[in-house]
Amino acid sequence: MAEAEVAELHSEVSRETDHEVVVIGAGVAGIYQIKRLKDLGVRAIVLDANPDLGGTWYHNRYPGARFDSESYTYGYSFSRELLDEWHWTEQFSPQPENLRYLDFVARKFGLREHMQFDSRVEAMRFDEEANIWRLSLQDGSEITTRFVVTGVGVLSTPTLPRFEGMELFEGPSFHSFHWPHEPLDLAGKRVAVIGTGATAIQLIPEVAKVAGHLTVFQRRPNWAAPLNNAPISASEMDAIRARYDEIFETCARTPGGFEHEPDRRGFYNVTAEERRELWDRLYDEPGFAIWLRNFVEIFIDEEANREFSEYIAERIRRRVHDPEVAEKLIPKDHGFGIQRLPMETGYFEAYNRPNVDLVDSAATPIERITRMGLETTERSFEFDVIVYSTGFDSFTGAFDQINIEGVGGARLRDKWADGPVTYLGLLVSGFPNFIMLAGPQSAATNFPRGAELAVDWATPLIEYMREHGHQRFDAEETAEAAWVEHVKEMYQGLLLRKAKSWITGYNSNLDGHEYGKTRYNIYNGGGPKYAQRLRDVATRNYEGVTFD
Ligand code: NAP
Repeated sequence: MAEAEVAELHSEVSRETDHEVVVIGAGVAGIYQIKRLKDLGVRAIVLDANPDLGGTWYHNRYPGARFDSESYTYGYSFSRELLDEWHWTEQFSPQPENLRYLDFVARKFGLREHMQFDSRVEAMRFDEEANIWRLSLQDGSEITTRFVVTGVGVLSTPTLPRFEGMELFEGPSFHSFHWPHEPLDLAGKRVAVIGTGATAIQLIPEVAKVAGHLTVFQRRPNWAAPLNNAPISASEMDAIRARYDEIFETCARTPGGFEHEPDRRGFYNVTAEERRELWDRLYDEPGFAIWLRNFVEIFIDEEANREFSEYIAERIRRRVHDPEVAEKLIPKDHGFGIQRLPMETGYFEAYNRPNVDLVDSAATPIERITRMGLETTERSFEFDVIVYSTGFDSFTGAFDQINIEGVGGARLRDKWADGPVTYLGLLVSGFPNFIMLAGPQSAATNFPRGAELAVDWATPLIEYMREHGHQRFDAEETAEAAWVEHVKEMYQGLLLRKAKSWITGYNSNLDGHEYGKTRYNIYNGGGPKYAQRLRDVATRNYEGVTFD
């Protein structure tokens, strides 16, 4: 669609200020949600703060950004026609292709007409008299709607460090989430990357290839394993298409929403040699196989986790030439896979390059950013570009950006001050007619699989309201409390409860997110159990939900 046409449609849409449903966020979840609502003939609109659709794939344009999910398990499953038409060109598709895919979906189903961009929702207040939400946008406009459905993402509010002098640096400096849209020429440049999470692990090998010099500031190393990406030929894509039913059935059956199924032989029921055989094989397999096709004991048993972590440490030692650098890259404070596993392509080999240095910024912390670079407790550095790959205010951050006031003027931000409190990860008691897609405390799965599940639950709830002439629904407090308890319990048996990561709400750049103040952000029971629970609740006329 030509830009002029898009602009015309936007102005068409923006004349409407009253809707039955407002969807916030035109990312993976919001796109499917508006498709379902459009099909039902519901008066609905998607608002997005960005100039275009795509959510996480609109923003994360850093070199190396790509799926960690097999492309064909990440795509939408709802349309056979779409599945037949789209050709994924790589096993793990890169960001530009992901964005093209989402645009293709939106155009194919005529969804852009229902999207309004550059529309940041600043506040929303539930009007208890009228049983509607009143939204205030950044541009001063007001929108009213019966229902609000959010698809605001779980890692969409980037957080920067709080170093002194950050505003002084004279070259480009930005969070990886805000990697410039216009080409950034790093050839011959002195580049700093701060952070070594999944994002940095994707971008470091790419930056290393072009930069004059790259210095990586690592506070804590992360376990990482090879992505083993490959192109998908036309005939391979045909074979994938023929398997789509099977693929999505498997994704619905496995805890993580992937084709990967855990090895159920039992860690202790096989010999150390047999375990090694499995691991040697998994290390060369694509994607999360090494994580999710492994023994389940790796996630719950310290000893099993230690043995496997040592196996991966050996792999790192084999790949990194300098033994001192290799040891720096091996995590010592947590075992493999208890934080979300970053997938890498030549990450460890990047440190074999003469133009790459690794600074241990736990031993010599960054003290301040300067006009020309930065200073650690040990020395000063000069850079042309600084990349902050320092993570996100996960799960609740995007909601906190909006001043959300529910019944009695209660603020969601206050209710969630110590972490999210939800019913099923979809509803929040005291915030009527409000549904979160893939929100906090929903099942942590391959993102689109969880998003489709949520949309397929939210849409019938809206239909149910219409059919019964209800004006308002709300989650019962007791049902919500029971869900939160259940979510907390599911953390207890897992080693990830100790993770110093966004899964437990840790973020050194945010007050209240210190290590130990666990925020129970995800439902750890896996996709199938979660889906069953959602089906049960719906079948029992939305048990735990009240209607007016
Ligand atoms: P992250 O995992 O939270 O990593 C942030 C990094 O920055 C950590 O190494 C952290 O060190 C460091 N850091 C933060 N503040 C710092 C400070 N003040 N000083 C020094 N270092 C600091 O963030 P991320 O890498 O963006 O990844 C977040 C999540 O996004 C991933 O886990 C994944 O779920 C998702 N992601 C997905 C994909 C994909 O699917 N393809 C790709 C990238 C990311 P500490 O560990 O010491 O805190």
